[in-house]
Amino acid sequence: MSLFNTLMASAIPLVPRALIRKVSRRYIAGETAAEALVRVRALDAQGFSATLDVLGESVSSLSQADRTTDEYLRVLDAIGHHGLHANISIKPTALGLLLDEAHCENNFRRLLAAAERHGIFVRIDMEDASVTQKEIDLLARLKRDHDRVGIVLQAYLKRTYDDIEPLLGERENLRLCKGIYVEGREHLVDQAWRDRRAINAHFLNHAARCFDSATFVGLATHDEELIGQLIDLARRKGIDKGRFEFQMLLGVCENLQGRLLGMGYAVRIYVPYGRDWYGYSMRRIKENPQIAGYLMKAALGR
Ligand SMILES: Cc1cc2nc3c(=O)[nH]c(=O)nc-3n(C[C@H](O)[C@H](O)[C@H](O)COP(=O)(O)OP(=O)(O)OC[C@H]3O[C@@H](n4cnc5c(N)ncnc54)[C@H](O)[C@@H]3O)c2cc1C
Repeated sequence: MSLFNTLMASAIPLVPRALIRKVSRRYIAGETAAEALVRVRALDAQGFSATLDVLGESVSSLSQADRTTDEYLRVLDAIGHHGLHANISIKPTALGLLLDEAHCENNFRRLLAAAERHGIFVRIDMEDASVTQKEIDLLARLKRDHDRVGIVLQAYLKRTYDDIEPLLGERENLRLCKGIYVEGREHLVDQAWRDRRAINAHFLNHAARCFDSATFVGLATHDEELIGQLIDLARRKGIDKGRFEFQMLLGVCENLQGRLLGMGYAVRIYVPYGRDWYGYSMRRIKENPQIAGYLMKAALGR
C-alpha cells in the first residue's frame, strides 16, 4: 500500500460528506432505481451490458433484508420491462445471511423465481473469507432448483483452487476477481495470498481452468497488464469471444472499458446504487485504502 493511499485513508473521515458524495457520483449511479436505470440505458446504448447492485451489506434486521429483496424485485421487473442487457448482483449478507440463513435463502428464492420469469441471471457476490463457505453452500442449494445463478471466486484466496472445481462446466457462469476484502483477521490470515503482485498468476490459472472447461467466465478486473495476459491466454487457447466477458466498475478506467468494447469484447459494467452510498464508500475505503487514493485523486482532478 503506498504512503499516499495510507495518508488519504486516514484523512477520509475529515473529508466533508458533500465532497465524498460528489466524488462517489462517478462510481455510484444514484440513490434510486430510476436513477440507476438511466445510467444502465446510457451504457446499453453504447454497447455495454450491466449488473445492478443495490448498495448495503450486513443488515441488522430481517425486515431490512426483506426491504432490500423487495428493491431487487422492483429492479428485476424494470430490467425485464425495458428489455435491458442487465442482470443483478447480490451480497448474501444484505439478504440476511448472518441473521438467519434459511430466511436469506428464501429471499434468494423469491428473487430467482422473478429473475427466471424475465430470463435474467443472478450473481452472488463473494464477501469476506468468514462467509465464503456459507455462500458457496447457499449457491449449491439454490442450483438444485435454478439455472440462472452463479457466484464469484476471489483469486487472492488459496482455497479458490478447490472451490472452483465443482463450479466448472459448459452450463456454468462464474465471475473471477482479485478480491476486495482485507483478510487480516488472525484466523483468516493464512487463507489469502499475501503478496498482491502474485495474485495475477493465480487469476490466470483460474481463468485457464474456466476456458478449458467451457465455463462462461466474467473477468472482473481493471488491471491492464492482467487483461492483456487474459486476452493472450484466450487467443492461445482459441477461446471464442462469446465464452467470456470483461467486467468493470462504473466510472473506473472508462477508456479501457471503451477500448475493449472497440476490440469486440463483451464488457459488463457493475452499477451500484442506493441510499447507503455513504456507508458503501466508507466501507470500501476502510477495507481497501487504495480506494481512498483513487477518491482523493479524483477529488483533486488528477
Ligand atoms: C465487476 C466487479 C465485480 C466485483 N465483485 C467482487 C466480489 O464479488 N467480491 C470481491 O471481493 N471483490 C469484487 N470485486 C473487486 C475486485 O476483487 C478488486 O478488488 C477490484 O476490482 C480491484 O482490483 P483490480 O483487479 O481492478 O486490480 P488492481 O490492481 O487493484 O487495480 C488495477 C487498476 O484499476 C484501477 N482501479 C481498480 N479499482 C478501482 C476503483 N475502485 N476506483 C478507481 N480505480 C480503480 C486503478 O487504476 C488500479 O491501478 C469486483 C470488481 C469488479 C470490477
